[in-house]
Amino acid sequence: MTDQTYLTLNDGRALPQVGLGVWQTPADTTADTVEVALAAGYRAVDTAAVYRNEKGVGEGFRRSGLARDAVFITTKLWNENQGFDAALAAFDKSLGRLGLEFVDLYLIHWPAPTQDLYLDSWKALVRLKEEGRAKSIGVSNFAIPHLERIIGETGVTPAVNQIELHPRFQQADLRGFHAAKGILTESWSPLGQGKTLDDPTLVAIAARHGKTAAQVVIRWHVQLGLIVIPKSVTPSRIAENLDVFGFELSAQDMAAIAGLDGAGRIGPDPAAFG
Ligand code: NAD
Repeated sequence: MTDQTYLTLNDGRALPQVGLGVWQTPADTTADTVEVALAAGYRAVDTAAVYRNEKGVGEGFRRSGLARDAVFITTKLWNENQGFDAALAAFDKSLGRLGLEFVDLYLIHWPAPTQDLYLDSWKALVRLKEEGRAKSIGVSNFAIPHLERIIGETGVTPAVNQIELHPRFQQADLRGFHAAKGILTESWSPLGQGKTLDDPTLVAIAARHGKTAAQVVIRWHVQLGLIVIPKSVTPSRIAENLDVFGFELSAQDMAAIAGLDGAGRIGPDPAAFG
């Protein structure tokens, strides 16, 4: 397998471009799944307090025997814990469940604009970064006005905005804004939750490269400069999803996939959720 690529965050730290997502990975098997992924070469895992499997992520990491600085672990602040003090307390609980002294990346999971607490939560994350307990900080599901507000009020630009992004929902405007601000875009549900993989365009491109449609889609995210966190609990698929560094999509392949945009979101609308 060709070496995986790393991207540099706006705070100077590096993160692997392909990581393992663990939403809906059962709590009692998460340690096994994470152990398998780290043995297969993954060096990044994306969890969240609300996934209820942070404990398994920490345990899988410890079983791997890898050094702490070799693995990039992300978790997220859940909506009901928004606010300055509540976010600090929720972060402590996440660290406790993970069994770690720090996380690599801490994200506000949703802006939850009707609560109007995301600015206070962001100030808590800035504090956690200053303390070194969250090495990098970012957000998830933020729209441009939410990003502008937290940057304007604190002067601290999130390292990452993790957003729904797959061939049928490509988010070009938000990606453009991120690029202009130095925010990396991280794609959640990057495979469209597996529902887009029988698309004839993807199947044809995959056949030409001797790859699977999942590998083509993950490679598309990689070539767009995105961070991508496909989820699987199946060891063969976990390995397959990381094996995307030994081939390249052509400009025509990229254009054909660009043409699949338009079906819209699978997940909730961030303007209304939370
Ligand atoms: P995904 O797009 O990664 O799809 C996962 C599904 O695709 C699997 O359950 C499986 O059915 C299928 N699949 C995976 N690999 C495959 C392969 N090689 N061949 C065929 N089918 C394959 O969906 P996801 O889990 O929703 O998203 C990935 C990660 O993004 C999550 O685990 C989580 O970490 C993160 N996420 C974040 C948010 C957020 O609000 N920040 C929301 C959803 C997901």
